[in-house]
Amino acid sequence: MTQALQDTARTSAHFAFDNSYARLPQHFFARQTPSQASEPWLIKLNEPLAAELGLDIEALKRDGAAIFSGNLVPEGADPLAMAYAGHQFGGFVPQLGDGRAILLGEVIDRDGQRRDIQLKGAGQTPFSRNGDGRAALGPVLREYIVSEAMHALGVPATRALAAVSTGQPVYREDVLPGAVFTRVAASHIRVGTFQFFAARDDADGVKALADYVIDRHYPDLKEAANPYLGLFEAVCDRQAALIARWLHVGFIHGVMNTDNMTISGETIDFGPCAFMDTYDPATVFSSIDQRGRYAYANQPGIGQWNLARLGETLLPLLGDDAETALEAANTVLKDYGERFQIHWLRGMREKIGLSSVEDGDLDLVQSLLALMQAQQADFTLTFRRLSHLAADGSAEPAFLGTFREPAAASEWLVRWRERLSLEMPSAAERAAAMLAVNPAFIPRNHRIEQVIAAAVEDADFSLFEALLTVLSRPYEEQPAFAAYMEPPKPEERVLQTFCGT
Ligand code: AMP
Ligand code: MG
Repeated sequence: MTQALQDTARTSAHFAFDNSYARLPQHFFARQTPSQASEPWLIKLNEPLAAELGLDIEALKRDGAAIFSGNLVPEGADPLAMAYAGHQFGGFVPQLGDGRAILLGEVIDRDGQRRDIQLKGAGQTPFSRNGDGRAALGPVLREYIVSEAMHALGVPATRALAAVSTGQPVYREDVLPGAVFTRVAASHIRVGTFQFFAARDDADGVKALADYVIDRHYPDLKEAANPYLGLFEAVCDRQAALIARWLHVGFIHGVMNTDNMTISGETIDFGPCAFMDTYDPATVFSSIDQRGRYAYANQPGIGQWNLARLGETLLPLLGDDAETALEAANTVLKDYGERFQIHWLRGMREKIGLSSVEDGDLDLVQSLLALMQAQQADFTLTFRRLSHLAADGSAEPAFLGTFREPAAASEWLVRWRERLSLEMPSAAERAAAMLAVNPAFIPRNHRIEQVIAAAVEDADFSLFEALLTVLSRPYEEQPAFAAYMEPPKPEERVLQTFCGT
């Protein structure tokens, strides 16, 4: 018996596990006990999230280092690595799977929602290929910060329950401190999970997975005329809504491979992701995305491409014959484009303070974006300052100050005010609504890099804590943290981000 299993009983941290994925057919996963960490130390426990999951916070403060490093497997866990495939940068890889992630199990949270608890970086699995199954501290902190920031911004995302330092080095281009990240997700089922079975002509596997997903994420569809077509539609709609939200906050996922797209509609895998400072739709940060496949403005289209791959796996379930099935899938994919546009424009209207719908709204939004691009305006500051301006005319110089040449922006303001005059809400109401959708604080790259440098070089986690605090209330003013609103100075600008591998 391994050390981890022997340790099972030694914690009073009770997890009410109910592991439905582990009850699926055996070829869906590989059971895998986490590896041991030599000197685990709890960097951070997300107490509000732990409470949501019904966990005992005092017990976790005591045993969290052991549990979230993988050293101590809590009772009721059934640790496993999930099988999946995926298109990476357009090329299909029939077997990927959890190479450095181990699902401990599922708990039902306070609201009755089933949530996965997964360790990322707790050692090798049968899917590790040549990888070490480990994670470095920097990417763990990055994922912690960005996924929690997304949640606070109101963008569906997997959550961060804990970060643990392992006390062991990991070997990348440099020798780096190792860490384990504990991720909580509605589930870890991806487009690539469906592809895994489809690529093996395992029609029963695809169907079993689809039935499981409908049960877990889309139970209303059980009554639908064709639940599988309903499933495809529902996933497309959640992704359309999600990617629209990314665009509203200036988020660039960076590696939208089909294995990094969830069926639940949560953002997953915060590797080379980043938020835009200066607005430019062609922005790419990821060092491995040399052709800009996953650039900011390409995300809706790539989402559709990924969903087409999902549709292919479901085809045998979508209609009585091949032709009907294909036609049905294509109709849903076409609708995705329209749904995305609806979600996106609705959010952009809110961002500029419109509460009604007029014909010229799209043009008004697009002309502001074009100006921002031409004048290298900061994406986040522009909308935040416009929100202040909605309440108070004296905020106009600050708004114009985000543009290199304010004249054109001044002209845009004339059009904007004309459009606002068609609406009922008072200036104060409008400004309040705008401030609630246009964040003051986003996880700017240069801040994340400062956090990582302090943690990795000096074992100083105070900047990490400060950034988490600021980002937990992104729509509030927080004058003590005003500096965190600022874009990077030229010498602070981060031009590239790297995968966590
Ligand atoms: P990602 O780029 O994080 O989406 O990972 C793509 C694939 O590579 C997944 O199958 C991961 O499990 C695997 N992988 C990434 N890093 C490692 C690692 N350090 N050890 C083993 N497998 C890894
Ligand atoms: Mg991934």
